[in-house]
Amino acid sequence: MLKYYFIYISIIISFLNSCNFKKKDNQEVNSTIKEKIKKDSTTYISIVDSSPKPSPCIWDTYFKSEGLVNIQKVDSTLQVELKYSTEDNFMQRDMYGCLDSCYLQKDVAYKLKNAQKHLKSIDSNLSLLVYDGVRPRAIQQYMWDILDMPINEKVKFVSNPKRGSLHNFGAAVDITLYNLTTQKALDMGTPYDYIGVEAWPTKERLMLENGVLNEQQINNRKLLRKVMIKAKFFNIQTEWWHFNSCYRKKAYELYSIIEGIDSTLIKKATLNK
Ligand SMILES: [Zn+2]
Repeated sequence: MLKYYFIYISIIISFLNSCNFKKKDNQEVNSTIKEKIKKDSTTYISIVDSSPKPSPCIWDTYFKSEGLVNIQKVDSTLQVELKYSTEDNFMQRDMYGCLDSCYLQKDVAYKLKNAQKHLKSIDSNLSLLVYDGVRPRAIQQYMWDILDMPINEKVKFVSNPKRGSLHNFGAAVDITLYNLTTQKALDMGTPYDYIGVEAWPTKERLMLENGVLNEQQINNRKLLRKVMIKAKFFNIQTEWWHFNSCYRKKAYELYSIIEGIDSTLIKKATLNK
């Protein structure tokens, strides 16, 4: 009987020790969050910091905990340059900080692998170059807030975060074609996330007639659309670089919106590591 008593006591002690350990972990996580918070008047930009870049990046841990996959683990030949992890974007702000990898839903990443395969079968010297994949809704909200234009115009460039962009589900990519020899993106007639009709696929013929775009630029866009559509992505009317993997209704059925990192999610992501 005494033997069972000791076993019972030791189980209780080990349980209490594990609780203390978790509490210590949480304290460490909280101090990490404080270190990460940039003093900035804007709520959403405060969750990311451009330097230093911690390793492993908290975004990677968070996205993995949400069931997303790093596309280069699915296909290492895919090129990635996250424009929102640099200041080379329409906001001129580094939104992701330490993030260098592109994450998507697993089935979407495999569709992208197929698009890359189609492209390679046409020209092995080309590769897809991904500019953005999953985009947490907190970042989407920031983009929405920063863009100062009437709502009916704004929706042409940034999806309303209340409804959720397909990027927020990890079910859309911003992408271009990349020449492996010159190590340059192909000329698509406008830069990525250019705000204007020159970027609209529906205006290409008009832009060609007006001499704003040339035939080569339009052919480059057509090749991008060809391989993406063959892999069952859909393009949209106003951005040559944006492709959805499914419609919004389907995304709500299949996936959850990736909200972004707050202190609770950082704890969850870190403790599940
Ligand atoms: Zn996009």
